Amino acid sequence: MASMRDSMDRRMFLRVGFSSLGTAMVMSGASLAQEAAAPVCRTLGRTGLKVNIVGFGSLNTSEPAVFQAAFDRGVNWVDTARVYMDGRNERMVGEALKGYRDKVYVSTKVAPGSLEEMELSVKESLEALGVDYVDLLQLHHIKTKDEVFNKDYRAFFARLRKEGKTKFTGVSSHSNEVEVLDAVASDPEKFWDTVMLPYNFKSPPATKASIERAAKAGVGVIAMKTQAGGYATKELGDISPHQAALKYVVRDPNVSFAVPGMTNLKQVEEGVAVMRMQFTRADLDILERYGKAIAPYYCHRCGVCRPTCPAGVDIPEINRGLMYAEGYRDMALARSTYRDLPSAVSASACGDCAVCTARCPNGLDVAERMQRARTLFG
Ligand code: SF4
Ligand code: SF4
Repeated sequence: MASMRDSMDRRMFLRVGFSSLGTAMVMSGASLAQEAAAPVCRTLGRTGLKVNIVGFGSLNTSEPAVFQAAFDRGVNWVDTARVYMDGRNERMVGEALKGYRDKVYVSTKVAPGSLEEMELSVKESLEALGVDYVDLLQLHHIKTKDEVFNKDYRAFFARLRKEGKTKFTGVSSHSNEVEVLDAVASDPEKFWDTVMLPYNFKSPPATKASIERAAKAGVGVIAMKTQAGGYATKELGDISPHQAALKYVVRDPNVSFAVPGMTNLKQVEEGVAVMRMQFTRADLDILERYGKAIAPYYCHRCGVCRPTCPAGVDIPEINRGLMYAEGYRDMALARSTYRDLPSAVSASACGDCAVCTARCPNGLDVAERMQRARTLFG
């Protein structure tokens, strides 16, 4: 790391590649300077909505006052979902929105299901949020092009839009997001207005390129999971990687805005400040050190390991549950994520192999991770 910084000091416009960050991140002195002038507010694709680049992902926040502190400081988007905290999260966001509804955009999500289930889910969302409509309703956690083009889902969302229950429609994806994003971007009907997807300094170049294609096609791109798990590490001492990680995401002009989770006032202050900060060499240093520290844990959900496990264990989803436990330190969320897995593909389906054949090109010890999941989740 010292040699990297030394070389940057030697040449002002030196281009530096950070292969150890696992990305194609390349910067120059000139682009660093441009970051300072980056707008606080961007347009959310074809929706035309003007959104400040740091929004609020409500997933693990438990105090309405924390949301309101963020709204008071310029955050004008809050994102929730019907399933978060078994519905309690939407009620909390609804509490927080009292007195703020005309200043803050709100989005929620409905899981794919039968039309009756989805209808009920949206009804419950609007009631819990205490609103007549949301600004964006998203089809939650989809993985395939087929879901993007599913005619029944489209008819359902189109009807809700016509009924005024949502202004715009989008999808969210936690895995196979490049396929999903490309499908939305290349859709001749331009049906979905937005895509919410994990994007952080550990994301592969393919994700970044797909985001660029989507933005060029007029799709609003919303970044989640900006903290790559938010693990506490000894390697950084007292330094939090939160701002550096968030800055990395919002400096990408193809991202409309990000929805980091913020659970207390300190995190709100840190997150909100990023709207007016530039990405610096110190941030690069922090991210490189943080990236190295979390390498044994951080799963990219790339799915490369899937065909190498003969038992068909859903290694990426199990790792997502582990990330919520070990990174977010949110055991309730971790357990509910793990519980959603069919037992046939959970960590309990793993263990009969004399030697684990599952291979992770990103260096995770899959057998150790599965053992850890069995210990934590039973
Ligand atoms: S365990 Fe490794 S190969 Fe499997 S999804 Fe995660 S990062 Fe990819
Ligand atoms: S030990 Fe490895 S290869 Fe065997 S079932 Fe578990 S994850 Fe799959």
